[in-house]
Amino acid sequence: MRWMIIAAIILWVFAITGCAFVTEDEPGESAADKADRETVKVFSEPDGEPSGEKFSEASPGKLKPLPEADKAAEAPSIQRPGIVNRDELKVIADGDYLLALVTKETTLRSDYQPDDLKAVPDYMYPSRDMKLRKEALDHLIKLWHAAKEDGVTPHILSAYRSYDYQAVLFQSYADTHGEEAANRFSARPGQSEHQLGTAVDFGGTPFDLTADFADTEQGHWLAENAHIFGFALSYPEGKEHITGYVFEPWHYRYIGVDAAVEWKESGKTLKEYLETKPQYFD
Ligand SMILES: [Zn+2]
Repeated sequence: MRWMIIAAIILWVFAITGCAFVTEDEPGESAADKADRETVKVFSEPDGEPSGEKFSEASPGKLKPLPEADKAAEAPSIQRPGIVNRDELKVIADGDYLLALVTKETTLRSDYQPDDLKAVPDYMYPSRDMKLRKEALDHLIKLWHAAKEDGVTPHILSAYRSYDYQAVLFQSYADTHGEEAANRFSARPGQSEHQLGTAVDFGGTPFDLTADFADTEQGHWLAENAHIFGFALSYPEGKEHITGYVFEPWHYRYIGVDAAVEWKESGKTLKEYLETKPQYFD
């Protein structure tokens, strides 16, 4: 009988350590692969999101209906879904302008692409090959190291996206959720700050791309410090009637250090702040 007991103990120990391996780094796995694996895990949640890093924008989770007050305030500043008339959109003259107003009433040209895109370094755990404009990336690097010194390790879930990429992304959400719901958490092509090459989605927590990200160490750190490095939170909580988008505590846009500090002190949404700045349309 003794050998059976010993065998049972060996099997038990194996089972315990085997389980532990599942949550540890896999041998020979690069940081980027690990980030990939975790992103896939996040997007394999049962709410029907497309899985894999290619579709790493918002996970809408359970969208709350708009409060009645918001619905009243919604018109006319928020464009009604399904009646987007692209001829009525103001066409942004220069996407390189750091303070360009990108909203549901404006659009970047489909061929606008920044010409100074640089690769996001691997140590920031980009979930695929990612790029940002040079000035934004230089400041993101400073932000990243400052966060790291405070014990926070941001992962970069999304950065520059082309017009065409955004079109595919938005269509995939519209197919799943309907256009109206999709446009509350995902921008139509031409209306994404990611096309500017200055917007970043942060992550690396179990609550990535959900409102609960705001309550993580990383969410708190970014809310308190991102502006010091020139980054503004684009879609704050409770401001959907102004911004047109649900709370996205992970999405920041680089607008320059002076502007970001001024924005933070203003207490305004980024949209309202940028509306006080000169804007140029074709
Ligand atoms: Zn984003």
